Amino acid sequence: MLLKKISGLILFLVCCYTAIAQDTTQLYIPRNIQKAYDAGTRNINGTPGKRFWKNYSEYYIRVKFNPKTRKIEGEQNITYYNNSPDTLRQLVFRIAPNHYQKGGERNKILEPADIGDGVKIESLSVNADPVNTADDKVYKQEGTITKLRIKPLAPHGGRITVQMKWNYTLNKTSHERTGMIDEGTAFIAYFFPRITVYDDLQGWDDFPYLGKQETYFDNAFFNVFISVPKNYMVWATGDLQNPTEVLQPHILKKWTTALSSDVPVFVIDSADIANRAVTLKNKFNTFNFKTTAPDFVFATSNHYLWQVRNILVDSVTLRKAAITTAFNPAHIDFYEVNDFSAKTIQTMSFDFPGISYPYSHLTVVDGLDQMEYPMMINDNPTSTRFDGITLTTHEIFHQYFPFLMCTNQSKYAFMDEGWATIGEWYISPLIDTTIVDDYGMPQTNRDMGQDWEVPIITPTTEISKSMYLNNYPKPALTFLYVWDMLGDSLFRKSLKHYIITWMDKSPSPWDFFFCMNEASGVNLNWFWKKWYYEFGYPDLSITKAEKTTGGYKVTIISKGNKPVPINLYATLADGTELKQHRTVEVWKTQNTTEVEFITSQKVKGFKLGDVYDADVNKADNILKVSE
Ligand SMILES: [Zn+2]
Repeated sequence: MLLKKISGLILFLVCCYTAIAQDTTQLYIPRNIQKAYDAGTRNINGTPGKRFWKNYSEYYIRVKFNPKTRKIEGEQNITYYNNSPDTLRQLVFRIAPNHYQKGGERNKILEPADIGDGVKIESLSVNADPVNTADDKVYKQEGTITKLRIKPLAPHGGRITVQMKWNYTLNKTSHERTGMIDEGTAFIAYFFPRITVYDDLQGWDDFPYLGKQETYFDNAFFNVFISVPKNYMVWATGDLQNPTEVLQPHILKKWTTALSSDVPVFVIDSADIANRAVTLKNKFNTFNFKTTAPDFVFATSNHYLWQVRNILVDSVTLRKAAITTAFNPAHIDFYEVNDFSAKTIQTMSFDFPGISYPYSHLTVVDGLDQMEYPMMINDNPTSTRFDGITLTTHEIFHQYFPFLMCTNQSKYAFMDEGWATIGEWYISPLIDTTIVDDYGMPQTNRDMGQDWEVPIITPTTEISKSMYLNNYPKPALTFLYVWDMLGDSLFRKSLKHYIITWMDKSPSPWDFFFCMNEASGVNLNWFWKKWYYEFGYPDLSITKAEKTTGGYKVTIISKGNKPVPINLYATLADGTELKQHRTVEVWKTQNTTEVEFITSQKVKGFKLGDVYDADVNKADNILKVSE
C-alpha cells in the first residue's frame, strides 16, 4: 500500500546496484537471524528473500469516549490473515492499557490513583464462537500480554476473525504516551487489544508493554468510528470519512480553504471555541477514520485551536500532505509548531532522506509527552524555541523510522531513535541557523565506557541504564560517521536504497548493515563491529606536534576503540584557524596517525574535536605550542 504512494522516480534505485562480496564472517549473527537466511525469507546481501512474508490484519473498531468519566468503551472485529508458512495455534494480544492494572509488571512508576482494574473484556469470540475467558487453558492474561488458543490456523492464506467488546478507564495522570491532558482534552493511544506481530525472526512478539520500551507494529487496515460528546473535535491517524456528519458548515468551509493553502489557516479559531461552534449539536458525534498504518491513535479536545496547511510532498505525482497542529490557545510556543512541522516534512521529502512523506497528514497535538504515532505526535509545550524546534523535528522524523519501515521498536529501538536523533541534528539548524543541537553528546562523552554501558546491538528488551546512549546518540553518531566516510552522495543513495528496499518490511539490524554495505559497495563490517558489537569508548588524543620544513606534523592516537572522525584545528600566530579533516576510515587498520598543516606562520596551538566527535576525555585534545 505504502509503496504505491512513493514516486516512481526513486523506485528504480533498488535495482541498480552491483552485488558486492559480503564479509559476513566479521559480524556475529544470532541463530534465529541465521535461520531466516537459511529459510530464504531474508538474504545475506541485505534484501528481503524470495520467501519473505508478513501477516496482515484488518481492524474495524467502534469506540466511545466520555472525557467526564474517562471511560472508553470499545467494540472491535479483527480479521487476521496468516501468510506465514506456519500453522498457528494461538493468537497473542498486547492489551497495553493493562499497564495501568493492579499487580501489573512495569518499569515505570505510576501514580497510585491511575492504577485500576485494567481492561475488562466484556465478550470475546473467535470465528463467531464465544470464548470462555475464565478458562486458563484457552485464554491467559499476563500483564499486557494475553494468549488465546485457537483451532489451528492454516499456513499461507488461512484467516480468522475475532470479535471483542471491552472497556477501561483512561488514566488521569501518569501520562505515558496516553491519558488525559487537561479537563477537556485527551490523547488516546495504545488503547485497543492488538494482535502482536508474528514474524520470521522471532515468531510471536510476546514482549510485554512495561512502559519504557515502545512497541513493534506491522501495517494493518483500520476503519475506526470514534464517538465523543458534542463540542469535542477529534484528530486521528488516517482520513476523516464523514466531515459533513460531524463538523459545523463554517468549520468545513475553513477546512476546505486550508487544504488549498500552503500557509497555515485556523480551521478552529478562538471565536469558534468561545461560541462552542465546532461540531454538530448531537449529544455524541461519531468521527469515522480509515487508513492503512502501523497503529491507530486519536486525540480529542473541546477547547483546542486547529491550524492546517497543505504542502507538496512529492514533486513527481504532485501529492500534498496536510500539516496540522491542535493546541491550547494559552501555549504560545505552539503557534510556531506548524511552521516547524512543515519545514521538517519538506526536508524529509526532498532532502534528507529525500523520500516523499508517505501519509496524507501529520498532526502535532499539544500534549504531555514527546511521542510519535503514525501521522500523529503528542508533544508537550516547551519553554524555549530551541526545545520546540528540536522536539518537533525529532518526533516527526519518526514517521519514517519506525513507521514507514515497521522496525521492531521494543527490541531494536536504535533503529528508530538513532535516525530520529540524526534527523533532529540535521533539520533543526535548517529551521533556525543559530541552533547547534548537541542532543545526547554530553551524556555520550560522560558515560561511554562505564561498566554498565553495553554494545548497541544488545536488544533493547535486555538493557536498562544503557537505554538512552544505545538508542539515541550512539547509533546517530554511527550514521553521521558513515555519512562522512562514504561521502554525501553515496551515503544518501545507500540510505534511500535501504529505505525503499525495506519499507513496510521490518528490517533487522543485520538487514540494515548488509543493505548499506551492498548499496554503497563498501564493506563497512569493520565499522559496524567496532561500534555495534564491541564494548569500549571513543577517545582521541594529540600526542605531539613537530615543526617541519613546510609547517607542522601532528600525531594523533585513538586511545579508545571506537572510531571517530578527526577534526583538527591549528591556531596561527595571526589568529587565523586552519582545519584538517579525516573520516573514521583513518582508524580502520591503525590507532596512530599523522596530520600535516602547511603554513609559513608559527602555530600557537592545536585543538581536536567538533560537537559530534564523541570523546570521553577532552583534556588531551588540546596542545599548546611552546615558543
Ligand atoms: Zn524518539
